[in-house]
Amino acid sequence: MAELKNEPKIDPREVLEGIVEWVTIESPSHDAKAVNVVVDKVEGQFRDLGLKLERIPGRDGFGDILECKTPWGEGKGILVLAHLDTVHPIGMIEKDLKIRQEGDSVFGPGIYDMKAGGYIAYYALRHLIRQGKKTKLPVTFLFIPEEEVGSPTSRTRIEAAARGHKYCLVMEPGRDGDKVVTSRKGVGRFVMTVKGRASHAGVRHEDGRSAILEMAKQILRIEGRTDYNRGITVQKIAEEMTHWFLNLEPIGPDVEVRIEGGMNRPPYQKDTGIAQLFDKAQAIYREIGKDLKDVPLTGGGSDGNFTAALGIPTLDGLGADGKGAHAAYEQIYYSSLLPRTYLCTRLLETLD
Ligand SMILES: [Zn+2]
Repeated sequence: MAELKNEPKIDPREVLEGIVEWVTIESPSHDAKAVNVVVDKVEGQFRDLGLKLERIPGRDGFGDILECKTPWGEGKGILVLAHLDTVHPIGMIEKDLKIRQEGDSVFGPGIYDMKAGGYIAYYALRHLIRQGKKTKLPVTFLFIPEEEVGSPTSRTRIEAAARGHKYCLVMEPGRDGDKVVTSRKGVGRFVMTVKGRASHAGVRHEDGRSAILEMAKQILRIEGRTDYNRGITVQKIAEEMTHWFLNLEPIGPDVEVRIEGGMNRPPYQKDTGIAQLFDKAQAIYREIGKDLKDVPLTGGGSDGNFTAALGIPTLDGLGADGKGAHAAYEQIYYSSLLPRTYLCTRLLETLD
């Protein structure tokens, strides 16, 4: 078929302009007001696309959760997850992370993790709509205000949404070239409190019990448990490590050690459903002559850990490629915008 002259095309310049608009609105997780400014922006854009919106007011000092659903499609569809918060404090945009392009790299606070990914998902749906197309399945976009601190106020919502969907696409940053994520380690969060005994450091040194010394010993003990080789059987290790942490005993005499915490994100393991979804993504990437790979078990949890643990086929790391997540050199690669947007567009279009 001859190419139509005015047929809309994915334009990476246009994608980048849209990403930059989101990045310009700085949104640290703990600043609900700031996060809600970007939520307003995204809400307006999805409203213009004709999606059904629900905005769930934030609590505990976090921003609002935004849910956008296509008005078409029935039954279980595709859940697209993205977070709108970043780890960078307000003002980074004027300091280390000025928005700028240097060669293929485009810098900005949260551009890689993960405003680029969120915007790519929006652009993908908009691209289908302006081509006069629809997705086969209904699509729900869920924008999270506090993923970077473990999604404490949105986890229940994410899990409830996931249960009603057939697939989950997570727009977290892409990895090392043409790679996506099909498994992640679990994440635990623990707080250790150590109580020592005060004494004069010069006169009665021997009577004192240093809490700092005890803490230092404990840190070395915990560090000593690092075992890269065992990353592979994560599910059992999650239970084992939680038990181990919660039962840590004092090392020195006469000190008290208290541990609180537990697993925050369950491990995300590549099962058959995930492998099949990944195969589909690979086939799409081949349409543009590229080879999609998945990274071996990665650290750093995401909301994909929640959905995968519920057995929902989850593909993560679908956002832009780049590097420096959470760092002062955070950047995306401009050259990844076209293939990544194509991948997301075709996944939305073809998943059934
Ligand atoms: Zn992220």
